[in-house]
Amino acid sequence: MAKRRQPQSVDWLIKQIDSQLKKFGRDRHGLTLREKVVSLTKVHENFRDLGVSAVAESGIDDRNARERIRLYLIECVGTVIDSVELQVVSGIAEFARRIRELRIESGYQIASGASPDPGAGIELKPDQYLLVTAEPDPDVARRWHVANRIRRSGVGSRQRVLRFLMENAGKVVTTEELAYVAKDAKEFARRVRELRTEQGYLVATRFTGRPDLSVGQYVLQSTERVAEPHDRRIPDDVQKSVYTRDQNTCRICGWVRERWSVADPRILELHHLDQHQKGGANKAKNLAVICSKCHDEVHAGKHAKTVAKVREHLCRTSSL
Ligand SMILES: [Zn+2]
Ligand SMILES: [Zn+2]
Repeated sequence: MAKRRQPQSVDWLIKQIDSQLKKFGRDRHGLTLREKVVSLTKVHENFRDLGVSAVAESGIDDRNARERIRLYLIECVGTVIDSVELQVVSGIAEFARRIRELRIESGYQIASGASPDPGAGIELKPDQYLLVTAEPDPDVARRWHVANRIRRSGVGSRQRVLRFLMENAGKVVTTEELAYVAKDAKEFARRVRELRTEQGYLVATRFTGRPDLSVGQYVLQSTERVAEPHDRRIPDDVQKSVYTRDQNTCRICGWVRERWSVADPRILELHHLDQHQKGGANKAKNLAVICSKCHDEVHAGKHAKTVAKVREHLCRTSSL
């Protein structure tokens, strides 16, 4: 890549580009193909410099392209960014490596449409990016190291995803990491779903029991606890709607995630009011959010009155 030239002022560049374009408009019919292209490369270079100088005027004036990308993403945290914006800000066309460095070396969670993940809230186009939180994650270097080791292990992709989740149980992992471990930017979401629905692993997202998570984040809630076979087939959209309806709160004791502690590490789950094997459906009106402590107690025969009240309330109020 050509070395960055001395930065020029925005006004100077606009004047340059303006006169270059006018000259090109006048001369172009007399130019050979090669001469046309060469004269346009000069305009291109000035345009690139214009982008860099213009963002410098707004405070992003670092000489390093990666740092300019970082500052721009932080400025636009939580906003969907088109890749062409990063070209303007960085002044380079090949910025994908910089994004990778920001993720892997610096710990920024930058979601991209290259790993679409509607289950965890990411619905970007392939050439769009989103910085999820402005603060980098200090644990990220360790996780990439683990991801790399597991990615190279000889087992199948679902098993790799499971190993990665297991080694990070209770901790946040990201869409990008799961896609990397699965070696498949499109299929990893299906692998995670299979682990949930077929094997019962409690993998939570912000829509399924963990409102404290950001988009593109997952947590394996427990390595010991798995969902009952009859609880595993609840469709994602139904889960999502029940957690939202119940405001991520245990309907028996009112437990919420904010009360979580190491001494009392419970999680939120879905309980069938009419048990599935006895004909209860995977529908919102038959499901309630309860914490794992109350869930165990309910299955041991406690809280019968409260459960009956919830069932009766949902029959009256829920049409789904
Ligand atoms: Zn249950
Ligand atoms: Zn509870």
